[in-house]
Amino acid sequence: MEEKSIIIIGAGIAGLSTGCYGQMNGYHTQIFEMRDLPGGLCTSWKRKGYTIDGCIGWLMGSGPGYNYYQLWQELGALHGKRIINHEEFLRIVDNEGKALIIYSDLDKLEGHLKELAPEDADEISKLIQLAKTCSTFNPPIKKAPELMGLADLIPFLFKNKQFLKINSKYRNITLQDYVKKFKSPFLRKMFPFLLVDLFSLIMMLGMLHKKSAGYPEGGSLEFSRGIEQRYLNLGGKIHYSSPVTEIIVENNRATGVKLLDGSIHHSDIIISAADGHATIFDMLGGKYINKKIQYYYNHFPVFPSKILLSSGVNRTFDDSPHWIIFLLDTPIVIGGQEYTSLGVEIYNFDHTLAPHGKTVLRMMFDTDYTYWYDLKQDLDRYQMEKKKIAETVISILDKCYPGLAALVEMIDVATPITWERYTGNWKGSYQGWQLTEKTMPPFRMSKKLPGLESFYMAGQWVEPGGGLPPSALSGRNVIQLICKQDKKHFKTSFPY
Ligand SMILES: Cc1cc2nc3c(=O)[nH]c(=O)nc-3n(C[C@H](O)[C@H](O)[C@H](O)COP(=O)(O)OP(=O)(O)OC[C@H]3O[C@@H](n4cnc5c(N)ncnc54)[C@H](O)[C@@H]3O)c2cc1C
Repeated sequence: MEEKSIIIIGAGIAGLSTGCYGQMNGYHTQIFEMRDLPGGLCTSWKRKGYTIDGCIGWLMGSGPGYNYYQLWQELGALHGKRIINHEEFLRIVDNEGKALIIYSDLDKLEGHLKELAPEDADEISKLIQLAKTCSTFNPPIKKAPELMGLADLIPFLFKNKQFLKINSKYRNITLQDYVKKFKSPFLRKMFPFLLVDLFSLIMMLGMLHKKSAGYPEGGSLEFSRGIEQRYLNLGGKIHYSSPVTEIIVENNRATGVKLLDGSIHHSDIIISAADGHATIFDMLGGKYINKKIQYYYNHFPVFPSKILLSSGVNRTFDDSPHWIIFLLDTPIVIGGQEYTSLGVEIYNFDHTLAPHGKTVLRMMFDTDYTYWYDLKQDLDRYQMEKKKIAETVISILDKCYPGLAALVEMIDVATPITWERYTGNWKGSYQGWQLTEKTMPPFRMSKKLPGLESFYMAGQWVEPGGGLPPSALSGRNVIQLICKQDKKHFKTSFPY
């Protein structure tokens, strides 16, 4: 029997992954991507000889012992790449120069925290123990959640009893609230600069400890290129510079796509791995929704967008930690919002990103999409704002590293409008739906739309919490669902 054909919209990590697993299972797949590069949000770009990394800070599953590692192996994403695990993950420096250091090794971190705050030794031990328990949690990847039954669920619940307890007890505690447990004014002051909530913090510490949140040398575009190559080697086809404007539906069955150039392409199944809002409300004209979906798009919060300021400087930072947050004496205003700290990622650990003797610095700020949307209506004001941000940040950096301003050779400011224009992501969001009480598992967003046959969605807009592993996994899961529908055994393989 002739194998079915699948059209995939979008060559981000989800689209590429969907294509790889489709090919592994004998489907004829092709991807239509509006840009001329793979990766979507997982990308990098060049300016004046420097490479700006637009994505990966840490990659879950970058090391063995974690199921996501198998996913990246199947996708050929890490092949030949050196994985960098930072011994010191983050340093926060206060106005007097005193530092809180987040070591990746939990025992080393425990020692450091107790040195800083011996009066909080008990609470620190508890925190470290929580992170150690979280480090044992390993998200399952074998079966799509939609296909799991009680026989899968019961062993999962049993195995992860401790972790699930921690999750339900701590997931709603902000670090602002948590720090009240500390007696040390220093820890109380510094901890809220780490992350927003306690559960994310202990999860992150657990993954770092397990060496499963590293950085693949070469950066985000190289990582995406690895999966692109895997897809092409499996026989897939990618059509770049091919924006899809419409999903063609006949008798409530998706049968093809129409591109911006007017051409029409048919297949048995269509999978959109592009932005969720654009897929549902533009490409399908809002015809396949129900109250639930409408509710998600009206009420669920999305991850805020980001300003990403990158700078190329003509100097090295050999002895510097790779990520420092400086607390500021006077707050700065960036994109209409006040910030009391400046976080700087120093790419002294990836020499492929800058010419010899030079370094890329990266700074990110959460920002409000509507501020930038309004500003964009007047291009001159938009450009002025970007220039102002660059000047403000460089002047602060110059105080942290005297003489740095004179060594700046490149500056690049990406805003929510950049992400929106480049990837089509709704509100310029960098990670889709936020994880909240309502969107946490067991909540699951359907990968199908009501009343529409032969159509699926993959990617961060059907995986609340977003990020690279869930996006890639959603592609694997969608192909499992299709195999199940076609009564086929789902297969995977390794390239090397
Ligand atoms: C600054 C930043 C830092 C991040 N850091 C991390 C990190 O450290 N770790 C982590 O796990 N995650 C991180 N993320 C999040 C992660 O990048 C995303 O969650 C993930 O890449 C989403 O993948 P996706 O394939 O679902 O979506 P996307 O990457 O948005 O891919 C969608 C693709 O569809 C294409 N497309 C859209 N519309 C059309 C159309 N009409 N026709 C054809 N093609 C179309 C787009 O061009 C794009 O290529 C970060 C994101 C950003 C922006």
